[in-house]
Amino acid sequence: MTLWKSILKKNFHKTEALLDFLDFDEKNRALVLQKARFCLNVPIRLAEKMAKNAPDDPLFLQFVPLKKELDKHHESLSDPVQDRCFQKTALLLQKYQSRALLVTNGVCAMHCRFCFRQNYPYNFSEKVFEKELAIIKSDPSIHEIILSGGDPLSLSDDILRALILNINQIPHIKVIRFHTRFLIGIPERVSEEFLSLLKESKKQIVFALHINHKKELDQDVFDYVKKIQLLGIPVLTQTVLLKDVNDTKEALKELFLDLISKGMIPYYLHTLDPVQGAMHFDVSIEEAKGLIKELRKELPGYSIPRLVKEIPGKEHKTPIFDL
Ligand SMILES: *Cc1c(COP(=O)(O)O)cnc(C)c1O
Ligand code: SF4
Repeated sequence: MTLWKSILKKNFHKTEALLDFLDFDEKNRALVLQKARFCLNVPIRLAEKMAKNAPDDPLFLQFVPLKKELDKHHESLSDPVQDRCFQKTALLLQKYQSRALLVTNGVCAMHCRFCFRQNYPYNFSEKVFEKELAIIKSDPSIHEIILSGGDPLSLSDDILRALILNINQIPHIKVIRFHTRFLIGIPERVSEEFLSLLKESKKQIVFALHINHKKELDQDVFDYVKKIQLLGIPVLTQTVLLKDVNDTKEALKELFLDLISKGMIPYYLHTLDPVQGAMHFDVSIEEAKGLIKELRKELPGYSIPRLVKEIPGKEHKTPIFDL
């Protein structure tokens, strides 16, 4: 078995085992939801970075289900971004002109409690994407294929290589974009084999890494990101603004400074998509605008991501300006 698959197999899936590992006392255990619908899935590396017996740790909050998830919120939805209205097939979404998004699989290296796609009707029956690639091939207005999911890096290198080689054959595709969070959980995923398949792409590759907090980063993550960057692949990042995780000027500043110091460019800061079970992470638009305004005073312009909200039906993600 490849190294990354054997690491993935060791993920925590049992809440009790994780809470024991984190030395949780009875009082703090009572906050945790034992049988969450979107099940617990935490890589060892992330569990090791969580502070002991600390339910306010920014990593704990992102990955461990709390009883708060059961609170009812009228404004929350099962599919907040209306993915299901934009399905060309079960695995191909197109909301915006010129780029199409392939839902490559439903598997992730970790389960994030605020994930807007946690209820997505994943369909695993087909892994070769024949139908999807045929649709893309027949539509010359599509210039970019976004590999998303789930997490595209959960796919085997063989499947990814086949996908890249097939996309090589489509002249109007200029860019392949990977949307992934895998690296903060299992950076070893960037194996020599994976790097070699990236090199086989005739299209420009772009990475958009999902990173929300400085604690998700460390020297190993940076070293593996560098291997991707050395191939001439731009590495952008996206962050979700989350209450009690990263909704302070300091937390965002530390994160963005760490990213630019390693050549990663903060691309989007997303407001929370109002998915059921995640409303305790919501930060108001006014607060979000205020944070960006403060950050602009202290950081270079290129380190400030675009603050955006996904409003279903719009022709692009909606930027929130601070005029
Ligand atoms: C967010 C998203 C994209 C990418 O939008 P960009 O503004 O190009 O980053 C593409 N397709 C779908 C369905 C999306 O949700
Ligand atoms: S890695 Fe991405 S797709 Fe997977 S659970 Fe987290 S936010 Fe959702």
